Amino acid sequence: MKQVKDQFNRPLRDIRISLTDQCNFRCSYCMPAEIFGPDYPFLPKEHYLSFSEIIRVVQAVTELGVEKVRLTGGEPLLRKDLPELIHDLYTKTMIKDIALTTNGVLLPKYAKELKDAGLQRVNISMDALDDDIFKRMNGRSVSVKTVLKGIEAAKSAGLDIKINMVVKKGVNDEQILPMAAYFKNEGIPLRFIEFMDVGSTNGWQLSSVVSKQEIVERIDRQFPVKPVDKAYYGEVADRYIYADGSGEFGVISSVTESFCSTCTRARVSADGKLYTCLFATKGHDLKPVLRSSALVEEVKEYIASIWQRRTDRYSDERTEETAKKRPKIEMSYIGG
Ligand code: SAM
Ligand code: SF4
Ligand code: SF4
Repeated sequence: MKQVKDQFNRPLRDIRISLTDQCNFRCSYCMPAEIFGPDYPFLPKEHYLSFSEIIRVVQAVTELGVEKVRLTGGEPLLRKDLPELIHDLYTKTMIKDIALTTNGVLLPKYAKELKDAGLQRVNISMDALDDDIFKRMNGRSVSVKTVLKGIEAAKSAGLDIKINMVVKKGVNDEQILPMAAYFKNEGIPLRFIEFMDVGSTNGWQLSSVVSKQEIVERIDRQFPVKPVDKAYYGEVADRYIYADGSGEFGVISSVTESFCSTCTRARVSADGKLYTCLFATKGHDLKPVLRSSALVEEVKEYIASIWQRRTDRYSDERTEETAKKRPKIEMSYIGG
Protein backbone atom coordinates (compact mmCIF):
# COMPACT_ATOMS: atom_id res chain seq x y z
CA MET A 1 0.00 0.00 0.00
CA LYS A 2 1.22 3.46 -0.92
CA GLN A 3 1.51 5.78 2.07
CA VAL A 4 1.15 9.44 1.29
CA LYS A 5 2.91 12.11 3.34
CA ASP A 6 2.58 15.88 3.39
CA GLN A 7 5.28 18.59 3.38
CA PHE A 8 5.93 18.01 7.10
CA ASN A 9 6.12 14.24 6.72
CA ARG A 10 2.66 13.64 8.22
CA PRO A 11 0.91 10.58 6.76
CA LEU A 12 -2.78 10.61 5.81
CA ARG A 13 -4.34 8.22 8.31
CA ASP A 14 -7.95 9.15 8.91
CA ILE A 15 -10.83 10.84 7.23
CA ARG A 16 -13.98 12.57 8.42
CA ILE A 17 -16.92 12.79 6.10
CA SER A 18 -19.72 15.25 6.70
CA LEU A 19 -23.11 13.97 5.52
CA THR A 20 -25.12 17.17 5.90
CA ASP A 21 -24.59 20.73 7.14
CA GLN A 22 -28.03 20.77 8.77
CA CYS A 23 -28.75 20.05 12.40
CA ASN A 24 -31.62 19.72 14.87
CA PHE A 25 -29.53 21.60 17.52
CA ARG A 26 -28.23 25.16 17.55
CA CYS A 27 -25.24 24.83 19.89
CA SER A 28 -23.98 28.31 20.74
CA TYR A 29 -20.34 27.39 19.98
CA CYS A 30 -21.15 25.82 16.59
CA MET A 31 -24.41 27.07 15.03
CA PRO A 32 -25.59 30.14 16.95
CA ALA A 33 -29.37 30.34 16.47
CA GLU A 34 -29.27 34.04 15.60
CA ILE A 35 -27.09 33.25 12.56
CA PHE A 36 -28.30 29.78 11.58
CA GLY A 37 -31.95 30.84 11.25
CA PRO A 38 -34.58 29.95 8.65
CA ASP A 39 -32.82 32.10 6.03
CA TYR A 40 -29.38 30.54 6.45
CA PRO A 41 -28.11 29.25 3.07
CA PHE A 42 -27.65 25.56 3.89
CA LEU A 43 -26.34 23.36 1.09
CA PRO A 44 -29.03 22.27 -1.36
CA LYS A 45 -29.43 18.50 -0.89
CA GLU A 46 -28.79 17.88 -4.58
CA HIS A 47 -25.22 19.12 -3.99
CA TYR A 48 -24.47 16.32 -1.51
CA LEU A 49 -22.11 13.55 -2.58
CA SER A 50 -24.09 10.41 -3.30
CA PHE A 51 -23.39 7.25 -1.28
CA SER A 52 -21.62 5.66 -4.24
CA GLU A 53 -19.36 8.74 -4.53
CA ILE A 54 -18.59 8.57 -0.80
CA ILE A 55 -17.72 4.89 -1.19
CA ARG A 56 -15.29 5.72 -4.00
CA VAL A 57 -13.61 8.40 -1.89
CA VAL A 58 -13.20 5.91 0.94
CA GLN A 59 -11.92 3.18 -1.39
CA ALA A 60 -9.35 5.69 -2.68
CA VAL A 61 -8.11 6.83 0.73
CA THR A 62 -7.81 3.29 2.09
CA GLU A 63 -5.32 2.70 -0.71
CA LEU A 64 -3.38 5.67 0.66
CA GLY A 65 -3.16 4.24 4.18
CA VAL A 66 -6.40 5.41 5.81
CA GLU A 67 -7.92 2.90 8.23
CA LYS A 68 -10.50 5.02 10.04
CA VAL A 69 -13.54 6.89 8.83
CA ARG A 70 -15.78 9.06 10.97
CA LEU A 71 -19.18 10.21 9.74
CA THR A 72 -20.24 13.59 11.00
CA GLY A 73 -22.11 16.77 10.08
CA GLY A 74 -24.15 18.93 11.00
CA GLU A 75 -26.12 16.06 12.44
CA PRO A 76 -25.30 12.89 10.48
CA LEU A 77 -28.38 11.03 11.72
CA LEU A 78 -30.48 13.49 9.72
CA ARG A 79 -29.06 12.04 6.49
CA LYS A 80 -31.58 9.71 4.92
CA ASP A 81 -30.66 6.00 4.76
CA LEU A 82 -27.51 6.30 6.88
CA PRO A 83 -27.51 2.56 7.79
CA GLU A 84 -27.31 1.80 4.07
CA LEU A 85 -24.17 3.94 3.73
CA ILE A 86 -22.60 2.24 6.73
CA HIS A 87 -23.40 -1.18 5.30
CA ASP A 88 -21.75 -0.15 2.00
CA LEU A 89 -18.67 1.17 3.82
CA TYR A 90 -18.45 -2.09 5.72
CA THR A 91 -18.91 -4.38 2.74
CA LYS A 92 -17.47 -2.46 -0.23
CA THR A 93 -14.34 -0.81 1.23
CA MET A 94 -11.29 -1.99 3.17
CA ILE A 95 -11.96 0.46 5.99
CA LYS A 96 -11.36 -1.17 9.37
CA ASP A 97 -12.90 1.32 11.73
CA ILE A 98 -16.24 3.08 11.14
CA ALA A 99 -17.29 5.72 13.67
CA LEU A 100 -19.98 8.37 14.00
CA THR A 101 -20.21 11.66 15.87
CA THR A 102 -23.75 12.65 16.82
CA ASN A 103 -25.77 14.71 19.27
CA GLY A 104 -27.49 11.43 20.18
CA VAL A 105 -31.12 12.51 19.85
CA LEU A 106 -31.96 10.01 17.10
CA LEU A 107 -29.96 7.10 18.51
CA PRO A 108 -32.93 5.39 20.17
CA LYS A 109 -34.39 5.06 16.68
CA TYR A 110 -31.22 4.06 14.80
CA ALA A 111 -28.52 2.65 17.13
CA LYS A 112 -29.29 -1.05 16.59
CA GLU A 113 -29.72 -0.69 12.84
CA LEU A 114 -26.42 1.21 12.62
CA LYS A 115 -24.59 -1.41 14.66
CA ASP A 116 -26.05 -4.22 12.53
CA ALA A 117 -24.90 -2.35 9.41
CA GLY A 118 -21.26 -2.28 10.61
CA LEU A 119 -20.88 0.82 12.79
CA GLN A 120 -18.41 0.21 15.60
CA ARG A 121 -18.05 3.42 17.54
CA VAL A 122 -20.04 6.48 18.40
CA ASN A 123 -19.04 9.79 19.97
CA ILE A 124 -22.04 11.47 21.55
CA SER A 125 -21.89 15.17 22.30
CA MET A 126 -23.20 16.26 25.68
CA ASP A 127 -22.05 19.49 27.30
CA ALA A 128 -23.73 19.42 30.71
CA LEU A 129 -25.64 17.27 33.18
CA ASP A 130 -27.55 20.25 34.45
CA ASP A 131 -30.71 20.54 32.38
CA ASP A 132 -30.86 24.36 32.29
CA ILE A 133 -27.25 24.72 31.18
CA PHE A 134 -27.61 21.98 28.58
CA LYS A 135 -30.84 23.41 27.19
CA ARG A 136 -29.24 26.85 26.86
CA MET A 137 -26.16 25.45 25.14
CA ASN A 138 -27.94 23.28 22.60
CA GLY A 139 -30.18 26.19 21.60
CA ARG A 140 -33.22 23.97 21.11
CA SER A 141 -34.14 23.27 24.76
CA VAL A 142 -33.38 19.57 24.33
CA SER A 143 -33.20 17.95 27.77
CA VAL A 144 -30.30 15.96 29.21
CA LYS A 145 -32.69 13.01 29.54
CA THR A 146 -33.14 12.88 25.76
CA VAL A 147 -29.40 12.51 25.18
CA LEU A 148 -29.06 10.01 28.05
CA LYS A 149 -31.67 7.87 26.27
CA GLY A 150 -29.49 8.04 23.13
CA ILE A 151 -26.45 6.93 25.14
CA GLU A 152 -28.47 4.06 26.62
CA ALA A 153 -29.59 2.98 23.14
CA ALA A 154 -25.98 3.00 21.89
CA LYS A 155 -24.93 0.91 24.89
CA SER A 156 -27.73 -1.62 24.40
CA ALA A 157 -26.81 -1.91 20.72
CA GLY A 158 -23.23 -2.82 21.71
CA LEU A 159 -21.53 0.27 20.25
CA ASP A 160 -18.29 1.60 21.78
CA ILE A 161 -19.13 4.99 23.24
CA LYS A 162 -17.26 8.17 24.06
CA ILE A 163 -18.80 11.45 25.18
CA ASN A 164 -17.65 14.82 23.81
CA MET A 165 -18.01 17.92 25.99
CA VAL A 166 -17.04 21.35 24.67
CA VAL A 167 -16.05 23.56 27.59
CA LYS A 168 -16.86 27.28 27.54
CA LYS A 169 -15.73 29.46 30.41
CA GLY A 170 -18.61 30.90 32.40
CA VAL A 171 -21.13 28.83 30.45
CA ASN A 172 -20.62 25.18 31.39
CA ASP A 173 -17.21 24.93 33.07
CA GLU A 174 -18.89 24.31 36.43
CA GLN A 175 -20.11 21.08 34.80
CA ILE A 176 -16.59 19.66 34.38
CA LEU A 177 -16.66 17.83 37.70
CA PRO A 178 -20.27 16.58 37.62
CA MET A 179 -19.72 15.29 34.07
CA ALA A 180 -16.42 13.62 35.05
CA ALA A 181 -18.04 11.98 38.08
CA TYR A 182 -21.08 10.77 36.15
CA PHE A 183 -19.23 9.20 33.24
CA LYS A 184 -16.48 7.78 35.49
CA ASN A 185 -19.28 5.97 37.27
CA GLU A 186 -20.81 4.83 33.99
CA GLY A 187 -17.45 3.56 32.73
CA ILE A 188 -17.74 5.71 29.59
CA PRO A 189 -14.69 7.78 28.51
CA LEU A 190 -15.36 11.52 28.44
CA ARG A 191 -13.49 13.84 26.07
CA PHE A 192 -13.28 17.49 27.07
CA ILE A 193 -12.78 19.74 24.05
CA GLU A 194 -11.33 23.23 24.35
CA PHE A 195 -13.70 25.75 22.76
CA MET A 196 -12.23 26.42 19.30
CA ASP A 197 -12.36 29.33 16.86
CA VAL A 198 -13.76 27.24 14.03
CA GLY A 199 -15.67 29.35 11.49
CA SER A 200 -16.41 32.98 12.09
CA THR A 201 -19.87 33.02 13.65
CA ASN A 202 -19.45 31.60 17.16
CA GLY A 203 -18.01 34.73 18.79
CA TRP A 204 -14.86 32.93 19.92
CA GLN A 205 -12.52 34.70 22.30
CA LEU A 206 -9.45 33.32 23.98
CA SER A 207 -10.93 34.39 27.32
CA SER A 208 -13.79 31.86 26.83
CA VAL A 209 -11.37 28.93 26.64
CA VAL A 210 -10.78 26.72 29.68
CA SER A 211 -7.32 25.26 29.15
CA LYS A 212 -6.46 21.58 29.23
CA GLN A 213 -4.25 22.25 32.24
CA GLU A 214 -7.11 23.79 34.19
CA ILE A 215 -9.52 20.99 33.27
CA VAL A 216 -7.05 18.32 34.41
CA GLU A 217 -6.19 20.18 37.61
CA ARG A 218 -9.83 20.58 38.54
CA ILE A 219 -10.50 16.86 38.09
CA ASP A 220 -7.26 15.81 39.76
CA ARG A 221 -8.17 17.75 42.93
CA GLN A 222 -11.35 15.68 43.27
CA PHE A 223 -10.29 12.38 41.69
CA PRO A 224 -6.51 11.91 41.42
CA VAL A 225 -5.47 11.12 37.85
CA LYS A 226 -2.37 10.00 35.93
CA PRO A 227 -1.47 10.78 32.31
CA VAL A 228 -1.13 7.85 29.90
CA ASP A 229 0.84 7.59 26.66
CA LYS A 230 -0.82 8.14 23.32
CA ALA A 231 -2.38 4.93 22.02
CA TYR A 232 -1.21 5.65 18.43
CA TYR A 233 0.57 8.28 16.33
CA GLY A 234 -1.75 11.18 15.65
CA GLU A 235 -4.12 10.51 18.57
CA VAL A 236 -5.75 13.86 19.19
CA ALA A 237 -6.81 13.56 22.84
CA ASP A 238 -4.37 13.55 25.75
CA ARG A 239 -5.64 10.76 27.96
CA TYR A 240 -5.67 10.34 31.75
CA ILE A 241 -6.64 7.44 33.95
CA TYR A 242 -8.21 7.73 37.36
CA ALA A 243 -5.80 6.54 40.05
CA ASP A 244 -8.59 4.41 41.59
CA GLY A 245 -8.68 2.33 38.39
CA SER A 246 -12.17 3.43 37.40
CA GLY A 247 -11.49 4.38 33.81
CA GLU A 248 -10.21 7.30 31.76
CA PHE A 249 -10.96 10.69 30.30
CA GLY A 250 -9.25 12.78 27.63
CA VAL A 251 -8.73 16.40 26.69
CA ILE A 252 -8.49 17.82 23.18
CA SER A 253 -6.36 20.92 23.54
CA SER A 254 -6.32 22.44 20.07
CA VAL A 255 -6.00 25.96 21.51
CA THR A 256 -3.54 25.74 24.41
CA GLU A 257 -1.39 22.78 23.30
CA SER A 258 -1.69 22.39 19.56
CA PHE A 259 -0.90 19.09 17.86
CA CYS A 260 -0.42 20.08 14.23
CA SER A 261 2.93 18.29 14.03
CA THR A 262 1.13 14.92 14.14
CA CYS A 263 -2.08 15.85 12.32
CA THR A 264 -3.05 12.96 10.02
CA ARG A 265 -6.68 13.88 9.27
CA ALA A 266 -8.47 14.92 6.09
CA ARG A 267 -12.06 16.14 5.99
CA VAL A 268 -14.70 15.99 3.28
CA SER A 269 -17.75 18.27 3.35
CA ALA A 270 -21.24 17.04 2.43
CA ASP A 271 -20.87 18.69 -0.99
CA GLY A 272 -17.62 16.88 -1.70
CA LYS A 273 -14.86 19.37 -0.89
CA LEU A 274 -11.68 17.98 0.58
CA TYR A 275 -10.13 20.05 3.38
CA THR A 276 -6.69 19.39 4.79
CA CYS A 277 -7.30 21.50 7.92
CA LEU A 278 -10.28 22.17 10.21
CA PHE A 279 -9.49 25.88 9.98
CA ALA A 280 -9.07 26.04 6.22
CA THR A 281 -10.48 28.79 4.05
CA LYS A 282 -10.76 26.77 0.87
CA GLY A 283 -11.36 23.15 -0.06
CA HIS A 284 -10.57 21.05 -3.11
CA ASP A 285 -13.63 19.95 -5.04
CA LEU A 286 -13.71 16.17 -5.47
CA LYS A 287 -16.84 16.20 -7.63
CA PRO A 288 -15.13 16.81 -11.00
CA VAL A 289 -12.86 13.80 -10.59
CA LEU A 290 -15.64 11.66 -9.09
CA ARG A 291 -17.99 12.54 -11.93
CA SER A 292 -15.57 12.40 -14.84
CA SER A 293 -14.11 9.01 -14.05
CA ALA A 294 -15.36 5.86 -12.42
CA LEU A 295 -11.80 4.86 -11.55
CA VAL A 296 -10.81 4.76 -7.90
CA GLU A 297 -7.19 5.11 -9.06
CA GLU A 298 -7.82 8.63 -10.38
CA VAL A 299 -9.55 9.74 -7.18
CA LYS A 300 -6.61 8.30 -5.25
CA GLU A 301 -4.02 10.20 -7.32
CA TYR A 302 -5.97 13.45 -6.98
CA ILE A 303 -6.24 13.17 -3.19
CA ALA A 304 -2.58 12.14 -2.90
CA SER A 305 -1.49 15.18 -4.90
CA ILE A 306 -3.42 17.48 -2.55
CA TRP A 307 -2.10 15.82 0.60
CA GLN A 308 1.50 15.94 -0.63
CA ARG A 309 1.29 19.74 -1.00
CA ARG A 310 -0.26 20.24 2.44
CA THR A 311 1.46 22.66 4.84
CA ASP A 312 -1.36 23.33 7.35
CA ARG A 313 -0.54 24.18 10.95
CA TYR A 314 -3.25 26.68 11.90
CA SER A 315 -3.38 25.88 15.61
CA ASP A 316 0.38 26.28 15.93
CA GLU A 317 0.04 29.76 14.45
CA ARG A 318 -3.23 30.86 16.08
CA THR A 319 -3.50 34.34 17.58
CA GLU A 320 -6.53 36.47 18.50
CA GLU A 321 -5.91 38.17 15.14
CA THR A 322 -5.99 35.00 12.98
CA ALA A 323 -9.06 33.86 14.88
CA LYS A 324 -10.93 37.05 13.97
CA LYS A 325 -9.55 37.93 10.56
CA ARG A 326 -8.93 34.72 8.62
CA PRO A 327 -12.04 33.52 6.81
CA LYS A 328 -12.68 29.95 7.96
CA ILE A 329 -15.23 27.29 7.15
CA GLU A 330 -17.97 26.64 9.70
CA MET A 331 -17.87 23.64 12.04
CA SER A 332 -21.38 22.52 11.05
CA TYR A 333 -20.22 22.43 7.41
CA ILE A 334 -17.01 20.50 7.95
CA GLY A 335 -18.02 18.37 10.94
CA GLY A 336 -15.32 18.79 13.59
N1 SAM B 1 -23.76 17.10 15.41
C1 SAM B 1 -22.80 16.15 15.82
C2 SAM B 1 -22.35 16.38 17.23
O1 SAM B 1 -22.56 17.47 17.77
O2 SAM B 1 -21.78 15.46 17.80
C3 SAM B 1 -21.60 16.05 14.90
C4 SAM B 1 -21.03 17.32 14.35
S1 SAM B 1 -20.26 18.41 15.54
C5 SAM B 1 -19.75 19.74 14.52
C6 SAM B 1 -18.76 17.51 15.91
C7 SAM B 1 -18.10 17.87 17.22
O3 SAM B 1 -17.60 19.19 17.14
C8 SAM B 1 -19.02 17.84 18.43
O4 SAM B 1 -18.48 17.02 19.45
C9 SAM B 1 -19.07 19.26 18.88
O5 SAM B 1 -19.24 19.38 20.25
C10 SAM B 1 -17.73 19.79 18.41
N2 SAM B 1 -17.69 21.24 18.24
C11 SAM B 1 -18.54 22.01 17.54
N3 SAM B 1 -18.17 23.31 17.59
C12 SAM B 1 -17.05 23.36 18.34
C13 SAM B 1 -16.19 24.42 18.77
N4 SAM B 1 -16.39 25.67 18.42
N5 SAM B 1 -15.11 24.10 19.52
C14 SAM B 1 -14.88 22.80 19.86
N6 SAM B 1 -15.64 21.77 19.49
C15 SAM B 1 -16.73 22.05 18.76
FE1 SF4 C 1 -25.37 20.48 15.70
FE2 SF4 C 1 -23.29 19.14 16.50
FE3 SF4 C 1 -23.04 21.70 15.83
FE4 SF4 C 1 -24.33 21.10 18.03
S1 SF4 C 1 -22.17 20.71 17.61
S2 SF4 C 1 -25.03 22.52 16.47
S3 SF4 C 1 -25.29 19.18 17.52
S4 SF4 C 1 -23.55 20.08 14.49
FE1 SF4 D 1 -4.54 19.60 11.85
FE2 SF4 D 1 -5.23 22.06 11.09
FE3 SF4 D 1 -5.95 21.14 13.50
FE4 SF4 D 1 -3.39 21.73 13.00
S1 SF4 D 1 -5.08 23.15 13.04
S2 SF4 D 1 -4.17 19.90 14.05
S3 SF4 D 1 -3.24 21.11 10.84
S4 SF4 D 1 -6.63 20.35 11.52
